[in-house]
Amino acid sequence: MKKRLTPEQYNVCFLKGTEPPFSGKYTYNKVPGTYACVVCGAELFSSDSKFDSKTGWPSFDRPIVNKNIAAEDDYSCGMHRIEVMCANCGSHLGHVFDDGPTETGKRYCINSLALDFKPRAKPDSK
Ligand SMILES: [Zn+2]
Repeated sequence: MKKRLTPEQYNVCFLKGTEPPFSGKYTYNKVPGTYACVVCGAELFSSDSKFDSKTGWPSFDRPIVNKNIAAEDDYSCGMHRIEVMCANCGSHLGHVFDDGPTETGKRYCINSLALDFKPRAKPDSK
């Protein structure tokens, strides 16, 4: 592990916890940039694919590259969901659902705690 995680981050990333809805720092983040895995730094989602799902978690309609995301059936909590993880380090990110509002039809529902946001460098304005 490159950096120390907070207990809250550890709970999400390694114990597959879920942050309380509307608690995450990125839920309403509209700054252009890249969301990376908080554990290993792999780039996972772009602000370009972020949308407001009204669920209280940051939501994306696609990953930056499909191979950066691993998916697995999750039968916990008495329901069938698709868990998504960082393909590089296996950190739990959240779940993906098939009710997305855009042309991909996907809704990646991701915990803010599992993400590390990097604002895009401003265009050269000099
Ligand atoms: Zn990772």
